[in-house]
Parts: sequence; structure tokens; C-alpha cells
Amino acid sequence: MLNLRAHHLLCLVIPSEDEFKRVAPVMFRRKGYTNDYIGAYMGAFDTARSSPDVEIRVLDGPKEDDTCIHCGNYGGNVCLSPQASVFAEWDRELLVLFGLRAGGVIRVRDLYRLVREKINPKDMPGVCRGCLFDILDKCRENLYRLR
Ligand code: SF4
Repeated sequence: MLNLRAHHLLCLVIPSEDEFKRVAPVMFRRKGYTNDYIGAYMGAFDTARSSPDVEIRVLDGPKEDDTCIHCGNYGGNVCLSPQASVFAEWDRELLVLFGLRAGGVIRVRDLYRLVREKINPKDMPGVCRGCLFDILDKCRENLYRLR
């Protein structure tokens, strides 16, 4: 089972695999993420892409997130980043959009369905509008294809 904050979910299913693998490690590194964090996130990405029946516990904060524990801003169950409140808002937005509660469990295939049904490519969620990887327009196109 994967354990991930809601705002960590979209990149698991929306970007093209080649594009994400090309840009994400570079951009994570450029933004100061640790190698362990990058390894953990890319591991979750590979799991999601290869195993649609894998379960994901969807979280509303860093506590117990598989990747946050490796982040330099992880402060013992709280996020110490200056952007912590923005990340928390992104989590809340997606939980509401998907109709999930924090701690709820979905399968990767459910995540694809929720993304197809609930996300409008013309009105992407906050995490995408602030895309760390600068590939929002490409993800919009991918989302049209997913639908
Ligand atoms: S636009 Fe950025 S944050 Fe949104 S799914 Fe694509 S890569 Fe992830």
C-alpha cells in the first residue's frame, strides 16, 4: 500500500511516463529535495504506473506520507516548509474534489477514474497551477486524452 498526501496523487497518473521521468528528478533536485525523497516519490510513481490494483491511503498532511519522511522540511509529523499552508490547502482541495476523507483508501485504478471524472483540464487544481515541474500544459493535454 502507498501512503500519500492528496496533493501527491495527481502526478502519479496524469503526466506521460517518459516526460515525468525526464523532468521530475531534475526539478526535484533543483528545488532542494533530497535524493531519498526523490527516490521515494519516483518509487511511488513506478508502483502506480505498473500496478493499478495497488491501494493508496490518502492523507491530508505529512504524517505517515511515504515521501515526506525523507524531506528536509519534515519536522516530526508537521511540514516546516514556508509553503506548508499552501500544500495543506492543495490536500484539502483534492479531498473535497474527489469526495474522499483523510485516511481513506482507494486503488490506483480508482484514482484514474476520479481524475477523469472530477478534474476539468481547463480548471486544474492548485497543485497543478503551481506545478513544480513546469509541465502544466502537457498535463492538460494528457488529461484530455485520459477522458
Ligand atoms: S501539472 Fe504538474 S502537478 Fe499537475 S499532474 Fe502534471 S506534473 Fe503533476
